[in-house]
Amino acid sequence: SDHNLVYPASAAEMDWPALYPDFLGEGQVAEGKTKPRVEVADIGCGFGGLLVGLGPAMPESLILGLEIRDHVTEFVQNRIHALRAQNRVQPPTGNEAATASDAGATTTTTSHTPYTNIACIRANTMKFLPNFFEKGQLKKIFLCFPDPHFKARKHKARIVSPTLNAEYAYALAPGEGRVYTITDVEDLHRWMAGHFAAHPLFERVSEEEESVPDDETQGDPCVRIMSTATEEGKKVTRNGGKKFIAVFRRIADPPWP
Ligand code: SAM
Repeated sequence: SDHNLVYPASAAEMDWPALYPDFLGEGQVAEGKTKPRVEVADIGCGFGGLLVGLGPAMPESLILGLEIRDHVTEFVQNRIHALRAQNRVQPPTGNEAATASDAGATTTTTSHTPYTNIACIRANTMKFLPNFFEKGQLKKIFLCFPDPHFKARKHKARIVSPTLNAEYAYALAPGEGRVYTITDVEDLHRWMAGHFAAHPLFERVSEEEESVPDDETQGDPCVRIMSTATEEGKKVTRNGGKKFIAVFRRIADPPWP
């Protein structure tokens, strides 16, 4: 149940530095620079395969997985901590630092440790999504292999609906944000694509942009990663199943009448 779910009253109240200490911790944001915010959300992230795939591919973007099951959330958090620890480069010893500065070496901005830009929190995104994100904050939302809820009377539990799509539109950057969907259930694919197509603030991208070309340098890398990196996606590949993809752009806000 949601009784023991902790969620902030607004995005401003979230302890983001605790999730991304290398980006937002004490002394990490230079004076006068804007604090980076989460730009990518993986809704119902499961065991975190997409986060782990996207993290190194978008090293300067903060990426957040949201998952309702507490033991799954904990698993993903442990997975991320282990990956960060494995990848952390040992800081230079005092001597090396002294030699470098003695030699007049200029400090270059080192890139962040891999996986310090991904994090996972427990949340029921059907109820509390606007508590985590400000208007227009997100560049990308991923809905990967959501629970299909096959029976008609269960359709209201699907994570795509007119109401939820309005929340996704609110959180996505106008004219720029994208929502990525993938499923092996054709009926759910039609449901998701149909609901986004019917929403006035979304338009579907071209077939080309949704495809995964053989040439790995072509196409949208996010579509490629989404097709291969998630645990559900891997299961579908093993079973020889088909994957249905739809990507929608959040259009610019129409002018007030
Ligand atoms: N996206 C992952 C993947 O592709 O491997 C997991 C897919 S799994 C079929 C669906 C996930 O969504 C489950 O881990 C489930 O716990 C989570 N989920 C379902 N409803 C949710 C909600 N309201 N808020 C957050 N997560 C939810």
